[in-house]
Amino acid sequence: MLVSEGDVLEYDVVVVGGGPTGSTTARFAARQGADVLVLEKRQEIGSPVRCGEGVSLTWLDELEIDDYKKWTSQKVVGARLYSPAGNTLEITEKMAGDEVGVVCERDIFDKEMANLAAREGADFMVKTSALGLIKDDGMIKGVKARSMGKNFEIHSDIVVGADGFESQVGRWAGLYGAISPNDIMTCFQYRMADIEFDSRYTHFFLGSTAPGGYVWVFPKGEGIANVGLGIQVSRLDGSKTPKDYLDEFISSRKEFEDGEAIDMVAGAVSVAPPAEKTTTDGLILVGDAARVVDPMTGGGIVNGLKQAKIAGEVIGECIEEGRFDDEFLQLYEKRWRDRLENKLWRNYMAKEKAMTLDDKTFDKVIDALSDLGLEKMSVGAILEGVYERYPELIKEFEDML
Ligand SMILES: Cc1cc2nc3c(=O)[nH]c(=O)nc-3n(C[C@H](O)[C@H](O)[C@H](O)COP(=O)(O)OP(=O)(O)OC[C@H]3O[C@@H](n4cnc5c(N)ncnc54)[C@H](O)[C@@H]3O)c2cc1C
Repeated sequence: MLVSEGDVLEYDVVVVGGGPTGSTTARFAARQGADVLVLEKRQEIGSPVRCGEGVSLTWLDELEIDDYKKWTSQKVVGARLYSPAGNTLEITEKMAGDEVGVVCERDIFDKEMANLAAREGADFMVKTSALGLIKDDGMIKGVKARSMGKNFEIHSDIVVGADGFESQVGRWAGLYGAISPNDIMTCFQYRMADIEFDSRYTHFFLGSTAPGGYVWVFPKGEGIANVGLGIQVSRLDGSKTPKDYLDEFISSRKEFEDGEAIDMVAGAVSVAPPAEKTTTDGLILVGDAARVVDPMTGGGIVNGLKQAKIAGEVIGECIEEGRFDDEFLQLYEKRWRDRLENKLWRNYMAKEKAMTLDDKTFDKVIDALSDLGLEKMSVGAILEGVYERYPELIKEFEDML
């Protein structure tokens, strides 16, 4: 779509951010008959990729996705968790339903989410940035934007902030400030070729090799994987960068002896609790912008998609009722929190606890868990296993288990 300087476009809904949650909100809102425009500041949806690309498949029916193969590079049969001393917990296919099921091609995935939205009638503008919100008598009524050097406005009944981890929309709306450094993981990842990890599994390395986080090896095929780590920002004292930690890990392991890095990405993930408020008059936040990343794993795709579907459906109800005020939008707050919030808080508390464990305790915990024979690979199942052997480690949140 071409715009001229000073143009004013009229839509029911403007979505800021063409990531998976922006597109999915647009998809379900458009399905309810809303006129939706998605703005994406990058010139290509889904690219460049800044992601480990691990996703479960348990949400496909809920999100009405029938073909996952087109955006999958490797299906895994389970996960292996390694303690610093090398104790291993293997979680097999039978148990691995919950957290990681495939390693995807994130650029294709994001484009497919956009395709599904476009097929429901949503419009997209790439290389177009939202610059600020338009307010009228306290209500948010649209967005100021810039596309190909032209400033223009979109007037709308509702604005969706789906602009990711560093959401400006959330700040412009006064919904929150900066995230605490304790709750940010700074990440660094290589795509490594010619390595010798078992590509049927995802691999997670715990302990001081990645302070406050973990190292992941997510296979993209035989001999090739995303190899990355996340480190709690407050643990970085300036002496080493995340890249230094990852390089050290790689050079310490024989599986990488012949490995070549063919790609590198840096980024950050919020492992904060969910935002206290994700709505205001004429505006809602979804996905990373609403801080629904799983604080334990740093995975944000699936929670974001589930929340985005709820957002799109509530927007349909807003349009039907002609109500876009914060009071009406509590429907959204309530529905997504009922669906996701308990687990987000439980995993936040688990993450806080995991960050206090030393390498020896990780060794003991992984050892004990591998004896137990978990039935499911979910954070919940792992916590219950830890609770059985080391109740003192997770006493604080036994109510939530
Ligand atoms: C290194 C790394 C590894 C990760 N690994 C995993 C993983 O393995 N599994 C997993 O589930 N999650 C992972 N995540 C998290 C996951 O990437 C996010 O949770 C997910 O992308 C959230 O989707 P979203 O649509 O909310 O936000 P995003 O995907 O961040 O999309 C936001 C979009 O908004 C656009 N935008 C921002 N500001 C504006 C503006 N002003 N105007 C217009 N457009 C704007 C951005 O360009 C972007 O395209 C990882 C994150 C990182 C950094």
